[in-house]
Amino acid sequence: MKVTIFGTGYVGLVTGACLAEMGNHVVCVDVDAGKVERLKHGDVPIYEPGLEPMVIRNHADGRLDFTTDAAPAIAHADIVFIAVGTPPDEDGSADLQYVLAVAKTIGDHIDRYTVVANKSTVPVGTADRVRAAVAARLEERGVDVPFDVVSNPEFLKEGDAVEDCLRPDRIIVGASSQKAIRVLRKLYAAFNRNHDRMVVMDERSAELTKYAANAMLATKISFMNEIANIAEHVGADVELVRQGIGADPRIGYHFIYPGAGYGGSCFPKDVQALARTAHSVGYQARLLDAVEAVNDAQKSRLFTLLSKHFDGKLKDRTIAVWGLAFKPNTDDMREASSRRLMEQLWEAGARVRAFDPEAAEETRRIYGDRDDLTLVERPYAALEGADALVIVTEWKAFRSPDFGRVKSLLVSPVIFDGRNLYDPVVVEEAGIAYYGIGRGRSL
Ligand code: NAD
Repeated sequence: MKVTIFGTGYVGLVTGACLAEMGNHVVCVDVDAGKVERLKHGDVPIYEPGLEPMVIRNHADGRLDFTTDAAPAIAHADIVFIAVGTPPDEDGSADLQYVLAVAKTIGDHIDRYTVVANKSTVPVGTADRVRAAVAARLEERGVDVPFDVVSNPEFLKEGDAVEDCLRPDRIIVGASSQKAIRVLRKLYAAFNRNHDRMVVMDERSAELTKYAANAMLATKISFMNEIANIAEHVGADVELVRQGIGADPRIGYHFIYPGAGYGGSCFPKDVQALARTAHSVGYQARLLDAVEAVNDAQKSRLFTLLSKHFDGKLKDRTIAVWGLAFKPNTDDMREASSRRLMEQLWEAGARVRAFDPEAAEETRRIYGDRDDLTLVERPYAALEGADALVIVTEWKAFRSPDFGRVKSLLVSPVIFDGRNLYDPVVVEEAGIAYYGIGRGRSL
């Protein structure tokens, strides 16, 4: 099929590459000319496992192209996807300016029946607003071109995006037009060979499904962080509690890891946006407010532990940080817990020596050159002359370190394990003081 995708970020580019991989002809449109130029030369601006070779292969085979020119891209398509950002507005609600700008552009250029499918995460009612924006432009043009708007929220996870896109758990399609549903069935048939993953519903339910999924996942994390904080105060080990509760199939082991708080471009903004949506209709979403508040406090947890350990004397200390990205297998630093920690450390006069397998470039882009930040190329280089090691992101490379080497490199051997990667007994037997999250220490 002929597909056009607006937005070549994590969602748009991965979707474009995967649809091209299945044999479709995909044109990706972005307003960022630099990004488009890089993509045309096979230079993928984001890190996502498996993405780069897929982009290069499909571009070379003529099934995947990149442009800033919206008009021919829209003329090309049977389906136009909107996959642009929906960042938080000042009050936490989703900023729809990019989505609606694309809708207007679509209205400016469609000249035959087109399905407009929205993949961006948007508040309930946005499909109606997109429909109205397209229709307004058609009216201005004085033409009557048929189109349908469907909600097709995206559930891929950064770090596993290509795999998730090729083998989705479910494909949510919110639509009121049978014709549009048929078009999407045809497009997604290639992803449905094993079993039908498409769940068809109305647009509003589809829009809410996306927020509900992210809010549930964020709730699981904040719940476990709450239990971790209680465990710490009562002298229990949350890691044992986690395994104990996970054994109940109604709870399960997935996604109940305590840690240094959730970050990324989705959970923080989506929990807030859903709470704003609720507020706007006169409902106070107390649980969502609490999920966010717990997470916000948790992001400061590592700094609090460090500060207590060093009796508040962090000035001129050097802190080694392993992991900067908001989670493993990505270079995405949006709302990453490492940012809160580093900013608090700098505020207290400490220096940071950090290692991340993929996010150094993005960190440099965000913070620029500064005397109190050294980004190193190897994990152990971060430890040289450092007073403490802090684990912020659970990259696999950090799971089984050489504790002897860690001890010999640190000035005062202590590990702050923000993801509970290590057995405290093993670390302490190696002669290194250990702090985890919720691991039975009354502080
Ligand atoms: P992103 O910030 O990585 O990319 C957005 C892209 O859209 C940018 O390249 C930007 O230049 C481009 N853009 C902006 N306005 C445009 C326009 N008028 N025309 C063409 N391109 C334009 O965003 P993302 O992380 O891919 O997220 C996109 C949407 O998908 C958001 O609503 C997000 O909440 C949702 N989502 C994200 C993820 C994720 O893991 N990142 C997962 C599911 C859903």
